[in-house]
Amino acid sequence: MITKAFACYSLNDEERSHSSSGGIYPLIAREVIHNGGVVYAACYDDNLDVCHRTIENEHEIVDSQGSKYVQSSLSTTFRSIISRLRNYESVLFVGTPCQCAGLVSLVNETKTPRTHLYVIDFVCHGVPGRVAWNGYKKSKSLEGNNIASINMRDKSTGWTYGNYAWKEIMDNGSTTVTPRRQNPYMKGMLANLYLRPSCYSCSFKGVNRCTDITLGDYWGVWDHLPEMDDNKGTSLVLVHTEQGMRLFEGITDSIKIADANIERAIKGNSCIAESTKYNEKREEFFERLNKGENFITIVDGLTKTSLISKVKKMMINSLNTRGGIS
Ligand SMILES: Cc1cc2nc3c(=O)[nH]c(=O)nc-3n(C[C@H](O)[C@H](O)[C@H](O)COP(=O)(O)OP(=O)(O)OC[C@H]3O[C@@H](n4cnc5c(N)ncnc54)[C@H](O)[C@@H]3O)c2cc1C
Ligand code: SF4
Repeated sequence: MITKAFACYSLNDEERSHSSSGGIYPLIAREVIHNGGVVYAACYDDNLDVCHRTIENEHEIVDSQGSKYVQSSLSTTFRSIISRLRNYESVLFVGTPCQCAGLVSLVNETKTPRTHLYVIDFVCHGVPGRVAWNGYKKSKSLEGNNIASINMRDKSTGWTYGNYAWKEIMDNGSTTVTPRRQNPYMKGMLANLYLRPSCYSCSFKGVNRCTDITLGDYWGVWDHLPEMDDNKGTSLVLVHTEQGMRLFEGITDSIKIADANIERAIKGNSCIAESTKYNEKREEFFERLNKGENFITIVDGLTKTSLISKVKKMMINSLNTRGGIS
C-alpha cells in the first residue's frame, strides 16, 4: 500500500491535553485494548526513568501519553511480545523507529506470526541517553529541587509554532512551567548536545517504514490546513499498511481529520527525512559531565549564542515555517 497522510486530532480535549500532538496514540491504544489486545509503550517509573511497560487496562493509558526525551529501557519487552504473538494475542508496540525496526526484525527472524502485531513509530528527532537525564535530575536536586513529576510537552502555553512548555512538579508541591527553550535540559536537547551517537546518522528516516503507522506533530499545519489548528495539538499520521489502515479506521469517529500532502508536511518537519545535525561540542559536554561538573552549568555555557548568531537565527526563523522539535 502507498503511504497515506492525514492531519488529525482527537475530539476529546481533556485526553488530548496529556498527549504531545493530536492525542491519536491514546485513541489507538484504547481501540486495541477494547478489542482484547495489550499495548507496550513508554512510561516514567518512580525514579522518573523511562521504560516500556505493558498496558492492559484503559485507565493505565494516560501513564504512557506524551513524549519523553530520554531513551526508554526495553528490558524484556520483546520477549514478552513474541510470547503473546505465539498465543495469538493482539499486541500494539509503540516506540522509536529504531526500536520498532528491532522488534520487526526479531519477529521475522523467529518466524513469529505478525498478523496480530501492530507497530507504531513516530517522527524522531533523536533521544538523549540516560547519562544526560540523570545529570539534569542531579543538578536539580543539588539546587534543593527534587522533581516528583514531569511533563516535557506541557500545552498550557499552547502548541502552535512549537510554543509548548516544560512542566515540573517538585516533591515540595511547587510547580514550574517554563517555555521550552528556557529549560536547560530541553535547551541542550534542541542544540543536539547529547543525543545518542546513532541519532546523528539514523538509518530509519524517510516515508517508507517497516511499521503500520507513523505519528508526528504536524508542524506547519497552521499554514497548510489552518482549520485543523486550534493551538491544542495536531498530529501528522502516516498510514503505511492495510493493517494500519484498519486500525486507524477504528478511531475515525473520535477525531477531526483532513487529508494531508506528504511533501508539504516533510518540508515543515525535517526529522521525517533527515538525521539531526551533530553538535561539535557533544564530546566536551560528556567529558565535563563525567568529571562531575554540574549539568546545568555545562549546558548554559555550551549553548550560549553570540548576538550575531541570535540575530541570524531570528531572521532564518522568520523566513521559515516555525515549528518545534517534538
Ligand atoms: C524522543 C522523541 C522525539 C520526537 N521527535 C519528533 C519530531 O522531531 N517531529 C515530530 O513531528 N514528532 C516527534 N515526536 C513524536 C511526537 O512528539 C508525538 O509523540 C507523536 O506525534 C504522538 O503524539 P500523540 O499526541 O498522538 O500521542 P502521545 O500521547 O504524545 O504519544 C506518545 C507516544 O510515544 C511514546 N513515547 C514517548 N516517549 C518515548 C520514548 N522516549 N521512547 C519510546 N516511545 C516513547 C509513548 O509511549 C506514546 O506511545 C517525537 C517523540 C519522541 C518520544
Ligand atoms: S533518531 Fe534514529 S537512532 Fe535516534 S532514537 Fe530516533 S530512530 Fe533511533
